[in-house]
Amino acid sequence: MTMLSSTRALVALVATTVAALTWCGCGDRVPDAPPNLVIILVDTLRADHLHYHGHHRETSPRIDDLAARSAAFMRHHSTSSRTGPSTASIFTGLFPRSHGVLNPLTEFDAKGVLAEDRTTLAEILTAGGYECFGYTANINASDRFGFGQGFVDYQYIESSKAVEVRRHALKVLAEPRENPFFLYLHYMEPHSSYSAPQEYRSLYVDPRYDGRIDGRHLQLNQIVEGTLALSEAGAEHLRGLYDQEIRYTDDEIGLILDALAEHDLAENTVVVFVADHGEEFLDHGSVLHGYTLYQEQLHVPLFVHDPRRSDARRIEAITRHVDVLPTLLELLGMDGGDEIQGESLVPLMDGRQDQRGEVPVLAEASLMAVKTVRQRSLALGDWKLIEHLIPEAPPELYDLRRDPGEQHDLMAVEPHEAQRLRVRLADLLESLPEAEGAVTTLSEEEIRKLRSLGYVK
Ligand SMILES: [Zn+2]
Repeated sequence: MTMLSSTRALVALVATTVAALTWCGCGDRVPDAPPNLVIILVDTLRADHLHYHGHHRETSPRIDDLAARSAAFMRHHSTSSRTGPSTASIFTGLFPRSHGVLNPLTEFDAKGVLAEDRTTLAEILTAGGYECFGYTANINASDRFGFGQGFVDYQYIESSKAVEVRRHALKVLAEPRENPFFLYLHYMEPHSSYSAPQEYRSLYVDPRYDGRIDGRHLQLNQIVEGTLALSEAGAEHLRGLYDQEIRYTDDEIGLILDALAEHDLAENTVVVFVADHGEEFLDHGSVLHGYTLYQEQLHVPLFVHDPRRSDARRIEAITRHVDVLPTLLELLGMDGGDEIQGESLVPLMDGRQDQRGEVPVLAEASLMAVKTVRQRSLALGDWKLIEHLIPEAPPELYDLRRDPGEQHDLMAVEPHEAQRLRVRLADLLESLPEAEGAVTTLSEEEIRKLRSLGYVK
């Protein structure tokens, strides 16, 4: 079955499912109307910089409060260290090689556009009677790259500012409507450059710091290139600047949650908080994201708050971006068809399941900007393998339980584990259908924007 014909079959399937809405048999309150859905995606937010995840600074009071009322997935993983591939996995429930948004950007065209024949969450929800709205402050997740499929209104916020995302969101939330809605909000803070508004600028940085590191993207690119040295003091300054942006974003998200309550929507709206990928601060000798697949890039927050359920809990099982879509469809009482590669996390939310065994955590990186890289990684339980395709380099193996910071490569001393993971990775790759991303030609302005973010040379 081709993707396109399966999309049609899917629409029919969803329509049938919605006509006979069945709700979870977990004993929680059965609502009168299908719930609304709000997904808040914060770009470039590594999990361990949230206070809820143990960060020493109180970067996230409102997010922490939401987490405490949610199924908090404490070991959630991205499928990539870049916006396009990781966000596309959330939108489709597919790994990068199957949704096709993976190819490196070149200066003159953008391969890796999410193709029309991929089925997205918004398309499934629209077929199920939802009105879908999306506002993205990151051009990589804009309609230009295929992410607007299924939305009645999907806009790229050119200023990239949270206040503009908020302005659109509050308009959607204030409008009375008969149908349930899906609202997707993609915040660009704390993506570099790290520059929070004035009132946040002295929260977490040491006023005695007198080095030249200032958090501008241009400078960070120079550090990646190796033309600018970064000391530990400079890296600590960057962490402070980054945390100030997280604190600012937390306040902005608080305003969205307040608006849900003000408009009496909180009791019937599923709220999801997630990040596309993380960020590095000298964890492995460099900064930014997209160039490696270490945990600081892949370990991101996922909190799912369903007000109809009473099962807020911290969940330690390993989860992945591809699991988000099937989870949401089960919560909303819908079926997405059998091409989805992730699995619903609702059994974990219900407490019917504690662990998931060795669920394969596959990630792929492909970037041609300051440096050109192509890598893939597979984690199974505590073990993680990283393979380097471009530039070619020896694979790496880590024991995440003993060495969560991935500092000690065990490839030479654990040949049996290495071989087991290499076989599993090869089998997994062979089992996943490979898709090409669509190609588009970018305007000068779009190339300028991507270059300013470090996504093209
Ligand atoms: Zn991103």
